[in-house]
Amino acid sequence: MSAVSSTSSRPEPRPGVLAISAYVPGKSHAPGVEKVYKLSSNETPIGPSPKALEAYAGAGARLEDYPDGTASVLRKAIAHAYGLDPARIICGAGSDELLNLVAHVYLGPGDEAIYCEHGFLVYRIATLSAGGTPVVAPEKDLTADVDAILARVTARTKLVFLANPNNPTGTYLPIAEVRRLQAGLPAHVLLVLDAAYAEYVRRNDYEVGLELALSAPNVLMTRTFSKIHGLAGLRIGWAVGPDHVIDAMNRVRGPFNMNTPAIAAGAAAIADQAHVEKAADHNARWLSWLTAELEKIGLKVTPSVANFLLIHFPETPGLTAREADAFLIRRGLILRVVASYGLPNALRMTVGSEEANRLAVAALADFMAGKANEGQGA
Ligand SMILES: *Cc1c(COP(=O)(O)O)cnc(C)c1O
Repeated sequence: MSAVSSTSSRPEPRPGVLAISAYVPGKSHAPGVEKVYKLSSNETPIGPSPKALEAYAGAGARLEDYPDGTASVLRKAIAHAYGLDPARIICGAGSDELLNLVAHVYLGPGDEAIYCEHGFLVYRIATLSAGGTPVVAPEKDLTADVDAILARVTARTKLVFLANPNNPTGTYLPIAEVRRLQAGLPAHVLLVLDAAYAEYVRRNDYEVGLELALSAPNVLMTRTFSKIHGLAGLRIGWAVGPDHVIDAMNRVRGPFNMNTPAIAAGAAAIADQAHVEKAADHNARWLSWLTAELEKIGLKVTPSVANFLLIHFPETPGLTAREADAFLIRRGLILRVVASYGLPNALRMTVGSEEANRLAVAALADFMAGKANEGQGA
């Protein structure tokens, strides 16, 4: 018998942990279908830069050595690409790690983190796992609402997470609105600007917020190599912000959080801006084509500036999002169910290759024409 008595008969997680619904990634299988088109995780159809693949292969020759814990080569390459001071950059195993790190650094029991109604699910998971309290701000027209966010700030608020553009809606806030948000926040609140899709945006009133992250004492910007750089499998993210924020995050992060092949491939990828442009051009072309074609067949599409589209389905039995998902899977087309984002009657579709995009439109046209039973083998 233990000398210490407790009411628990087994180890109990900290408060908040069991309130987390584990993140469910986009599906990647369609049983019984020969060729599968995965349009569920916003991966790029263009793939990574050939230079990144070459650097990755080269790094594989020295796996017995620990990686450089400061990811110096990668931070320098990022700094060079954006004209930044490498000391203000921190790298992580995907931006997921950095979003979790920032939550662990700034949130404790009773502290609040605000994010938007249809915001990226990682914000809720990171907040709860740090022991903090999630606070959800409603949106307007599936778009972040600065006034609604500001109205929810209290003395306990420590973080505001904003994905700009947001996933899964594809909507964005103009830089003037981001500035108004920052200006309205008390000095003790850190604004985390998650710009995972920034490279895809082609709007004159959009800016990623880099100069806010460089000049304001309470703005951190996070970026990723998972989307336009096509390196999701290597898990590479980075953040830039005030010295004091980067310093605090560096104290908490694992000493070797980045692996050697990721550091090498990321550095090569960020230097290959021609490849980034190629991917952005492909996206711009097919994003507008898909939007127009889907609207022609009677589907409502939220205007997106990212590399995916939010497609809304009718409530009519036989034509719902759930039924569309099952129909598309029978044709090997995997989209993303977004019910867990509060969008039960929509699917999110990543802009794919020309082949995948044309097949998806053809399949959805059949589905909307009521040919729902012909999915099999059609
Ligand atoms: C995909 C995505 C990321 C990137 O996550 P990684 O961990 O870097 O792969 C970050 N934020 C949003 C909103 C995303 O959709």
